[in-house]
Amino acid sequence: MPSAASATRPATQDAPAAALVDAAAELAAAVRGEAGRWDEHGALPDEAVRAVAAAGLLGLDLPARHGGAGATPAQLGEAVAHLGGVCGALRALLTVQGMTAAALLRWGGEAQRAHWLPALASGDLLAGFAATEREAGSALAEVGTRIEDDGEQVVVTGAKRWVTFGQSADVFLVLGRTDAGPTAVLVEGDRPGIVREPVTGQLGLRAARIAHLTFDRVRVPRENLVAPPGLGLTHTAAVALDHGRFTVAWGCVGMAEACLADAAEHAARRVQGGAPLADHQLVRSLLARSAVDAAGARALAERAAEARAGSPLGAATETVVAKYAAAGAAKAVADRAVQVLGSAGCEPGSRAGRFYRDAKVLEIIEGSPQVAELHIAERLLRQGVRG
Ligand SMILES: Cc1cc2nc3c(=O)[nH]c(=O)nc-3n(C[C@H](O)[C@H](O)[C@H](O)COP(=O)(O)OP(=O)(O)OC[C@H]3O[C@@H](n4cnc5c(N)ncnc54)[C@H](O)[C@@H]3O)c2cc1C
Repeated sequence: MPSAASATRPATQDAPAAALVDAAAELAAAVRGEAGRWDEHGALPDEAVRAVAAAGLLGLDLPARHGGAGATPAQLGEAVAHLGGVCGALRALLTVQGMTAAALLRWGGEAQRAHWLPALASGDLLAGFAATEREAGSALAEVGTRIEDDGEQVVVTGAKRWVTFGQSADVFLVLGRTDAGPTAVLVEGDRPGIVREPVTGQLGLRAARIAHLTFDRVRVPRENLVAPPGLGLTHTAAVALDHGRFTVAWGCVGMAEACLADAAEHAARRVQGGAPLADHQLVRSLLARSAVDAAGARALAERAAEARAGSPLGAATETVVAKYAAAGAAKAVADRAVQVLGSAGCEPGSRAGRFYRDAKVLEIIEGSPQVAELHIAERLLRQGVRG
């Protein structure tokens, strides 16, 4: 693990975004040997979080006036793929920070943006996105967390589940409801009435410091509401989730490419029955199918990046397609990599083994394949099909 200083690049405001993509690659290479241990211990160490922040990666795609580097979607994607190819929790850190920042950038007032965005870009504040509840997973319109008016304050009461970095985040973007409908509010993590219950031993993303959260009449200032009451899901959370899908897609590209590399390297080196595994045509078939899956995922992620650069608000479907394809590819390529690696893929510390578990999780979160298929088919039918 490098020190934060050794992984540090010039201050975010001054560094061209392209240099930060290189910084992400360097950081990924430096921590590659550590990620398996973080997963086993169930926590990304503070030092790693600081290294990501010090490298300027938390504000990558925020505009310079808000403390970011102004990266294009393609640059953000490449940086995320580098981190995603070594550690799902590091990638998740960029994802949840970016989700909250994107929602504030789009729907926050000027004072909110000035207050929160520079701190999110620098990593002085770490954010979590708290939407899921026991009865509201894919169907977020069902959220029951109450946000009630009390003069200059609002009072938040409810229970959120599966909040990535919920154990350590400084602020949460919480999706709840007022009488006007779904509403989003920022809740600082040190407000009285918040209980964090760490989640351990889950299938994947074990180092992402996940927690279930309870909000027991937590009071926050009215100015913490993001966008007018009633727009919390269709506007605020929608922007956050769209950004999250984009970074998850690119993280999955990195995972698929990493698993393909591990499988190819092992197949070339490992000799059984007098011949390298790679000499078997059936093993080559596994590698070839994975190469096509990984390339397809990358192409669709690049297409989404291009669409977002042109029209950020009109690229939602391309982003859903990219996330759908890339998560499926990461799962399939990780599966085949573990197959080719055999027992080596099942060892503690195996990257392919870890990504085999992580990829399944990534297929479920930020929109399951079934929910994505509904979205994609709906858009297809609405726009018509050219024959
Ligand atoms: C490791 C991890 C990290 C997470 N991090 C966060 C976080 O940071 N913040 C947060 O708010 N949440 C987070 N979540 C929660 C995650 O977003 C939800 O698990 C996800 O939205 C699915 O909700 P659910 O688990 O309740 O599944 P359900 O909604 O019950 O869905 C289960 C399955 O039913 C099917 N299904 C559901 N709806 C439909 C439909 N309309 N049509 C067809 N099929 C359908 C799909 O196959 C789906 O996979 C995380 C979860 C995990 C496991």
